[in-house]
Amino acid sequence: MPVENVIIIGSGPAGLTAALYTARADLNPFMIEGYQAGGQLMLTSDVENYPGYPNGILGPEMMADFRKQAERFGTRYLTKDATRVDLKKNPFLVEVGDEKFEAKAVIISTGASARLLGLPNEKRLMGKGVTTCATCDAAFFRGMEVAAVGGGDSAMEEAIFLTKFATKVTVIHRRHELRASKIMQDRAFANKKIEFIWDTVVEDVLGDKEVEGLKLKNLKTGKTSQLKVSGLFVTIGHDPNTQLFKGQIEMDKNGYLITRDGTKTNIPGVFACGDVQDHVYRQAVTAAGSGCMAAIDCERYLESLHI
Ligand code: NAP
Repeated sequence: MPVENVIIIGSGPAGLTAALYTARADLNPFMIEGYQAGGQLMLTSDVENYPGYPNGILGPEMMADFRKQAERFGTRYLTKDATRVDLKKNPFLVEVGDEKFEAKAVIISTGASARLLGLPNEKRLMGKGVTTCATCDAAFFRGMEVAAVGGGDSAMEEAIFLTKFATKVTVIHRRHELRASKIMQDRAFANKKIEFIWDTVVEDVLGDKEVEGLKLKNLKTGKTSQLKVSGLFVTIGHDPNTQLFKGQIEMDKNGYLITRDGTKTNIPGVFACGDVQDHVYRQAVTAAGSGCMAAIDCERYLESLHI
């Protein structure tokens, strides 16, 4: 089997930017884009914070543009999931079911997945009032009432950010005690636009074409109620998509890949970019930026091998 210069695993903004840069550097990249290609932006509607789109763009359209641009310079795609990797041997091995691929370098851009509540209508109304990112979508809720689910730092941070736009933010938490750090709790409690509903879960998201309200259930009393809101921010954390790399690449306690000195992992020749190694910024533009960094780091690594 021919040994690839670089295999890129994952096709969000990080992976596709790495593909664009490695393709333009004549490295003929091979991308395993996954069955659910495009990453988290495929679950978003309008994107207004990516520079270069003055009128905004739909998330899936933006990812189609990214993909086309990388393809124009020769990126080859396989629309399947990588199922196993062996990064301990060199060349590195990447398996996709029964198919085996080898590469001198690997760029990992498998992203992270926002945790969801698992309600059928949550999925149906995703991008139509249900969202997992306040930084991305808060501005669409100017002058409206919204809810945020969760009791961690993410929920507090997003709820506070949302108050810049929404007239009222109701935080719905399943217990009576927040998990968030003391400082974030204090800030949220001090914010007059934030109200809390305790010991309560969201049982259903109501609305035909867009979110109109929530069905809530108090876990202590069993009582159900309805809350009229135009938006539901699901802020119950993220999980990095790193199962494939367990035991091979250094990760932090939450499973995010650890990068140092740019995008280098603990294995020379294996680079990581985007949300799979960033639980702080999580933006399309920061992911794309780190994809560019991974491509440049990869190019320099391959040069150092005198290919
Ligand atoms: P997290 O700490 O895991 O909190 C998740 C929250 O969502 C918890 O309150 C949890 O409830 C709730 N939850 C989880 N699954 C749920 C479900 N199915 N239904 C209802 N509620 C559910 O996640 P995070 O807030 O994203 O934070 C992740 C890490 O990043 C933390 O270490 C955090 O400190 C850090 N972080 C820091 C900042 C900051 O300092 N500014 C901002 C964001 C994140 P329970 O409490 O009942 O488990």
